Amino acid sequence: MKKETIALHNGNEIDPYTGAASIPIYQASTYHQFSLEHPNQFDYARSGNPTREALENAIAKLEGGCRGFAFASGMAAISTTFLLFSHNDHLIVSKDVYGGTYRLLTQVLTRLGIEVTFVDTTDLQAVEAAIRPNTKGIYIETPSNPLLKVSNLSLLAELAKAYQLLTIVDNTFLTPYYQQPLKLGIDVVVHSATKFIGGHSDVVAGLVVVKEDEIAEKISFLQNSFGAILGVQDSWLILRGLKTLPVRMKNSSKSAKVIADWLEQHPAVQRVYYTGLESHEGHKLQAEQASGHGAVLSFDVGSEEKAKQILNRVRLPLVAVSLGAVESILSYPAMMSHASMPREVRLQYGISDGLLRLSVGLEDVEDLIADLEQALSVKSLLVTSEGRR
Ligand SMILES: *Cc1c(COP(=O)(O)O)cnc(C)c1O
Repeated sequence: MKKETIALHNGNEIDPYTGAASIPIYQASTYHQFSLEHPNQFDYARSGNPTREALENAIAKLEGGCRGFAFASGMAAISTTFLLFSHNDHLIVSKDVYGGTYRLLTQVLTRLGIEVTFVDTTDLQAVEAAIRPNTKGIYIETPSNPLLKVSNLSLLAELAKAYQLLTIVDNTFLTPYYQQPLKLGIDVVVHSATKFIGGHSDVVAGLVVVKEDEIAEKISFLQNSFGAILGVQDSWLILRGLKTLPVRMKNSSKSAKVIADWLEQHPAVQRVYYTGLESHEGHKLQAEQASGHGAVLSFDVGSEEKAKQILNRVRLPLVAVSLGAVESILSYPAMMSHASMPREVRLQYGISDGLLRLSVGLEDVEDLIADLEQALSVKSLLVTSEGRR
């Protein structure tokens, strides 16, 4: 079956007790035990809840994994996954990993004795060279943020197997609709469901999906032990978001390609980063390992002044941190996601003062282009800001 169908018919869309067409919000923290000899499936809601379980089963089906887990945020999902590792273990992590993940690794996990090396995971030799006797895992984000660098998941999985390392992929940007890392040999997938999976800028949530039972048992134990579970109301919202994930991804990605093509020929734009463009270094690999290019693109307008002009003048996109919503979101990495990075390091990474990141939503693409056009136009520099607020 195709993912459009799986998103709607995966065995978790109808309440097994009443036949309700939407899984009810089981707002209960504990469950009456009808028989002490034959305990219920559910005993306490941190350990399990039917609403959360429906979501966990649905995401497992979509990712092609054996089991899914829902957490209070993407960072809760990622933190719990890192609890698979112990004192003196060493990890290899993608260099341009999400800022929150970087902070967790460098300010929390290192304090607990977990060692980390940040490596450009698009460079397989560099990854292999970073492996030490105590290396236990490789954590990858592809495509990366905000330059959308593509790492080769099959080859990384193969390399990891040769050294008996666990592989974890943050699949937030492409979602299972476009990329299924478990099918490429990766062991664990993590998500910020706050982004495309939830899709409506109204809930913070995280998901983990694993390929095999042995790791599933460990994550299940950690989820219950650490306790950073997703609440039932939010589980229900994410379940609802999942149903329209394919149609949202398809529509937004189609618009993203049109906008990327338009930006690429715009005289005020120096460079566009989108894996759907042939000019992107990861274009070919991305086309091989994923079925689409997603809805996030970045573009360089040359200077901080020009970037700020555009941020002040756009009327349709939200100017915000975050991505993956029904409405387009324009963000400024230098002052938002990468603000804590020293400027020289940021520039060295290629994240310039004129770089903007656009997460394309469901607005009409011609309206979006018209808005970007007026925001980019040189003339508008002379006009006083007439932003929305
Ligand atoms: C937002 C994000 C996270 C963190 O998720 P939260 O839901 O904000 O905790 C992790 N990885 C990526 C790629 C993200 O975009």
